[in-house]
Amino acid sequence: MKHAANAHRMAKEITSCPYCGAQTRIELAPDYAPKFVHCEACGARFIVERLAKGYQLLTVEEAPCCSNPECREQEMGGYDEE
Ligand SMILES: [Zn+2]
Repeated sequence: MKHAANAHRMAKEITSCPYCGAQTRIELAPDYAPKFVHCEACGARFIVERLAKGYQLLTVEEAPCCSNPECREQEMGGYDEE
């Protein structure tokens, strides 16, 4: 087993879509920020958040604001959409 120094690169994983359960590829952000990904099977958008060990998947409905890239953006930018 080799331990590659890849902390600053995107990590690719295969995971199960939280909506349809199909296997889909995701990329883990190098900066631990939550990120939207799209299921390759059903096209649903969900959130992958990198953790210190591994990652977690969140549906957009269940994600708290701090784990939702759009919500974070709005809070930081004060941007208001009606
Ligand atoms: Zn899916």
